[in-house]
Amino acid sequence: MATRKRTAAPLAEYKRKRDFDKTAEPAGKAVKKSHRALRFVVQKHAASHLHYDFRLELDGVMKSWAVPKGPSYDPGVKRLAMEVEDHPIEYNSFEGTIPKGEYGGGTVMLWDRGTYEPEAGGGEDALRDGYERGDLKFILHGERLVGGWVLVRMKRPGARAQWLLIKHRDETATSKLDVTEEVQTSVTTGRTMDEIAGGSRVWHSNRSEKTAAEKAGPRSVSEVARAKKKAAPKRGTKRASSKRATAKRSSAKQPAAKTRRSTKRASR
Ligand code: MN
Repeated sequence: MATRKRTAAPLAEYKRKRDFDKTAEPAGKAVKKSHRALRFVVQKHAASHLHYDFRLELDGVMKSWAVPKGPSYDPGVKRLAMEVEDHPIEYNSFEGTIPKGEYGGGTVMLWDRGTYEPEAGGGEDALRDGYERGDLKFILHGERLVGGWVLVRMKRPGARAQWLLIKHRDETATSKLDVTEEVQTSVTTGRTMDEIAGGSRVWHSNRSEKTAAEKAGPRSVSEVARAKKKAAPKRGTKRASSKRATAKRSSAKQPAAKTRRSTKRASR
């Protein structure tokens, strides 16, 4: 007997809720295991209630939580995160509008994306274990979100498990930055919610990405976070410390941000 829903029919609930003749969202399929870094994405979603969809790649799908107030860099702030159905990995590049009357109808912005890893190493097994225990500790390597975070499940899983999304007390934590207030643009297109809502449903190219993003200032957020991350010595994971060691050894190496961006492009 299967002990996990996903082994039976991955994404079944996702598909049941949507009419793919009417919405531009991807129909999706579960993806086979690979050795690349696991991805995360945060989508700002102006549905009947504004919320942020926080998604972590695990076992070929995106585990998903709806976070009404979005993430906070302040470790003293706990943000409610309602678990929702798994989404396909292809959803990570979805930005646009879901037609009114359809499930989740409203505007979707790609607010952040990047890779993530378990805080204490151990790869996907450690993440799966944390997810099942309801205590998932991880490090985000995004444009707007970086550093250690935890998702803690509050109740026994039911129709809708409730979790809390909390920032870890590390060198990236701060009570001075209201990140959801400060960052109002798409991480990929630089568009605001209004611009996405007014635009076509067709995916925009990245051609004006830099200018628009810089104009709106979100880059400064990640730069602040990255500078902090670099400056402070950290207990870090194996991966993070070996990255730092590499950077030290070779001063000619490209800045981390640049390297990461081009890696992402190539892997799309
Ligand atoms: Mn949503």
